[in-house]
Amino acid sequence: MRPSSTLRALAREKPPPAGAVPGAGAGAAVDPVAVLRGFTGGVRPQLAPGEQCEMCAVPIGPVHPHVADVPDHRLLCTCRPCYLLFDVEAASRGHYRAVPENYRYDVNFAMTPAQWESLGIPVDLAFLFHQTDQGRHVAFYPSPGGATESLLDLASWAEVVAADPLLVGLVPDVEAVLLRRLPSGFVCYLVPIDACYELVGLVRQYWEGFAGGEEVWQQIDAFFAGVAEKCRG
Ligand SMILES: [Zn+2]
Ligand SMILES: [Zn+2]
Repeated sequence: MRPSSTLRALAREKPPPAGAVPGAGAGAAVDPVAVLRGFTGGVRPQLAPGEQCEMCAVPIGPVHPHVADVPDHRLLCTCRPCYLLFDVEAASRGHYRAVPENYRYDVNFAMTPAQWESLGIPVDLAFLFHQTDQGRHVAFYPSPGGATESLLDLASWAEVVAADPLLVGLVPDVEAVLLRRLPSGFVCYLVPIDACYELVGLVRQYWEGFAGGEEVWQQIDAFFAGVAEKCRG
C-alpha cells in the first residue's frame, strides 16, 4: 500500500487541529479541499485554499464547487461561474472537469464478501473510481495517513461494476463509488469525488489508536447520514 499520487497533493499536509478551520464543527459547511491541504499559518500573500476561486481569484465561501485538474490529479476550489465553464459534456473531456454535485444511493448494489476481500481494504470504508490516465479502476481507503490506495488486482471489482448499470455510468475521475461495510451488508453510494476527500479528512483528523476510537466513528456516522440525506434531496 502506498499513498496515491492522486490524492497526495491534497493529503500531504496534516489538517489543522479541530477548531482551527472556520465552520469545521459538526454539521457546519466544511471545504474538503481546504481541510486536506491544511493551512500554512502566519502571514499569507494570498487567501488559503478554499477562500478564493483558483481560476479567477474572486473570494468564495466555504460552500463552493470544485473542478478537477485531471492530468495533475488535484481539485481546484472555484466560483460558480468558473465551474459552469466546465460543467458541460463537451468540456468534460478536457484537462479540467467539473465535479458533479449529485448523490445517489445504489439500491441494487451487490457484492460478495469474497469480492470485498479481494480489494485488500483493511477498514470497512472504501471509495473507487475510474482513473482516465491509468485506464483502470482504482480503490482507496481512508487511513490516519490520508487516502491509501489498494494495489491489488481489481478484476473482481470490474465484475461488480459490469453487473450494475448505475456503476457503469459513473463519470471517470470526478465521481466515485463510496462503500461502507456494515454487519447487515454493504451500503453503496455514488458521490462526487470531493465527498470522498471530506471523509479522508475526517479520518485523518479524528482517528486514534488501532480501531479509530469512538469519536471518529461518530464523525463517520454523521458523514454517512449527510450523504444519505443528499441522496434523498
Ligand atoms: Zn472563478
Ligand atoms: Zn474547495
